[in-house]
Amino acid sequence: MHLHFDPNRCYSCKTCQLICSYHHTGSFWPEKSSIEAYRNQQNGYVKWSVDNTCDGCSGESEVLCVKHCVYGALTIGAKQPQPEGHGKKLTAETDTGGSCLAGKILRVDLTENKIWTEDSLFYAQKTLGGRGINSMIMVNEIPAGTRWSDPQNLLCFGAGLLNGTMAPGACRVDISSISVFSGGKGSANVGGFFGPEMKYAGYDNIIISGKAPKPVYLYIRDDVVEIRDAEGLWGQTVFSSEAWLRETLGDPQVKTALIGPSGENRVRGSAVMIDGSRAAGGSGVGCVMGDKNLKAIAVRGTGKVGLADPARFMKAIDKCSAQCAREPNVVPMRKSLTNFYSDPDFEGWERIMVVRNGQDEYWEKEKRIELMNQQTGVPSMRKGMRACYLCPTGCSSYMEIDDGRFQGTRGEGFWVNTIMGHAARFDLSDPEAVVHAWLLTNEMGLDTDYVSSGLAWIFECYENGYITKDDTGGVELNWGDGDALVAMIKKLAYRQGIGDLLADGMLEAAKTIGHNSEYLLAHMKGQPSIEPFRVPKGWGLAVATSPICGRHLRGSTQGSHRFGPRPRPGKFGATEYEGQPEGVYWQARTKELEDNMGICNYVGTWSGGNYLTPGNFAELISSALGIEVTEKELMDHYACVGRNLEKAFNTLFTDLERKDDLPPERFRKEPVKSGPNKGFIADEEKYHTMLTEFYQLWEWDAESGLQTRDGLERLGLKNVADKLAAQGKLVQKKA
Ligand code: SF4
Ligand code: SF4
Ligand code: SF4
Repeated sequence: MHLHFDPNRCYSCKTCQLICSYHHTGSFWPEKSSIEAYRNQQNGYVKWSVDNTCDGCSGESEVLCVKHCVYGALTIGAKQPQPEGHGKKLTAETDTGGSCLAGKILRVDLTENKIWTEDSLFYAQKTLGGRGINSMIMVNEIPAGTRWSDPQNLLCFGAGLLNGTMAPGACRVDISSISVFSGGKGSANVGGFFGPEMKYAGYDNIIISGKAPKPVYLYIRDDVVEIRDAEGLWGQTVFSSEAWLRETLGDPQVKTALIGPSGENRVRGSAVMIDGSRAAGGSGVGCVMGDKNLKAIAVRGTGKVGLADPARFMKAIDKCSAQCAREPNVVPMRKSLTNFYSDPDFEGWERIMVVRNGQDEYWEKEKRIELMNQQTGVPSMRKGMRACYLCPTGCSSYMEIDDGRFQGTRGEGFWVNTIMGHAARFDLSDPEAVVHAWLLTNEMGLDTDYVSSGLAWIFECYENGYITKDDTGGVELNWGDGDALVAMIKKLAYRQGIGDLLADGMLEAAKTIGHNSEYLLAHMKGQPSIEPFRVPKGWGLAVATSPICGRHLRGSTQGSHRFGPRPRPGKFGATEYEGQPEGVYWQARTKELEDNMGICNYVGTWSGGNYLTPGNFAELISSALGIEVTEKELMDHYACVGRNLEKAFNTLFTDLERKDDLPPERFRKEPVKSGPNKGFIADEEKYHTMLTEFYQLWEWDAESGLQTRDGLERLGLKNVADKLAAQGKLVQKKA
């Protein structure tokens, strides 16, 4: 038998590699696969090969790699010679390992140059994994009064519980730390290949403490963990850092989490970039990494991830696969979610676009068409699609600009956030400029939302005459000017001129700029935000109450009928207030579970009724971890533990209160000016009504929003309740 591989159809999800290892070993062990798959995320180069350890899936009822390649890149052809398997011993290894947990947390103290491990089971039993473990460690260990730049602050990487298994879309890793904006809980969630590689190396979480005296990077290859000098790496952009590490380590399969010039320069809105192409953007986690003098983590794992009950788990996988195959959104998403926006009448245009830094929430149709038309717009620059590890949706665009002033620009990434942020917010409909600015933002290692919201704000300050050309180094900040945006991104990343002021935080910059600039800055609890509040109310409530401040993935209900779960919890009426708290409460809990398992919520509950559900999660967790959980326990206990840990961290480390859970003042004062939603506003009284209901659903005090002893003790978080009580920030009983 010969496997025929079509590189043009391959999304580089590596599912074929993993299922082959399962065939050979009964566990998930890429190193023991007959298949090797590799993609260079920067230039699109793809390599796929099968060696002579392939036995044609002897003993199986189907050819597994072909069956599980949902993109149709593998077919069966005539027999041909295959390369040697380099001495692999496949059939002798059948120990499943007993659990999907790697079992260890890697601890690294950069000040003391110390490395050690501890068991992860205790934390997994309490929180499942991923962000849950990060949050619990932060609440338990970070001393009161610690600020983001103190050595006692922790930078925590949490691979999801199901990372490394065959669970669809189980690739996400959580990066948590003290937020550089709010001083409370910070977290950013990202896909790619890094999280599963952590698991194959043997670690569920990596916790970094202290500060290195000079720039370093962390090298991990299974049990070998070394803090290495980053000379030669420091100062490089994201793309060249990624290439440097692969080349220096002599391993194209190494997975990386690193910062660009922006993080090195402690620009507050810096991201940690995964595999050189995907950003963990929120909360300034890249700034914290730079402040710790940690340029990168390079990880390579050659071990396996096991299962508690392989047969039951694979049955659950078959069910998940069948559901995803029935999902009508799958096919369009594989051609990019953003393609929906090629239709200028797509309802998303009327729901989530904030224009000219919040002056309006309606973008004219001719601009939508100029940006997104298939012939000359953004879609014409899309040269291929990519998937994160094991993802059946493959929503990521690989872009190249062939001509014009940005010729030669290439890389992965164009999302709905790009349209919301780098386009509508700047009134910028020039497709090349938007794509170039977005990829430049990634290359600098900046958080895209920080750039979109922060720089759009400085454009409006310029429009109002609060700053002039003298302040911007001669750059005219006019709406729709892509070159001005590009110039400002570089200034920000390298702290040049006014970029130095903006790098220390937009809220701080507003204090220097004065006038009513602070009012014009859209931020939640200090973090600049690109989100809408006046039109989609469930979306707005989730953003306003997000524990990580001003981001939509912590409970936003979809603004479109096409997406989201079916039946939809609460009442669907994207622009109404009624019924939204219930929907946000449901979506926030499923997101909590997804982040703890490491499953992308585009494959989970956010994208369509036939994607994965909490019922699927219960079956996957029970069979993979070996701890029996029901859907109800997941939703009413585990999801609530995670959210309450973050809420408690915010209460312990900040003075945030109910008023901080309201949309930014501008959105409560200025109605939408034009379009079908003209006159819409974030009505303060109605937002208060939603807040009260929302707090009660979580068992928090209806008035203050503080947590209650009853609620926390029901979740087994008595120690957290005691900490809050010691600060006088706990309500005894459910209000
Ligand atoms: S699309 Fe995924 S499963 Fe198919 S050949 Fe490529 S890497 Fe393998
Ligand atoms: S046919 Fe079976 S053994 Fe051969 S590469 Fe595919 S999954 Fe592996
Ligand atoms: S849906 Fe998109 S972002 Fe999510 S895992 Fe798949 S490719 Fe990555």
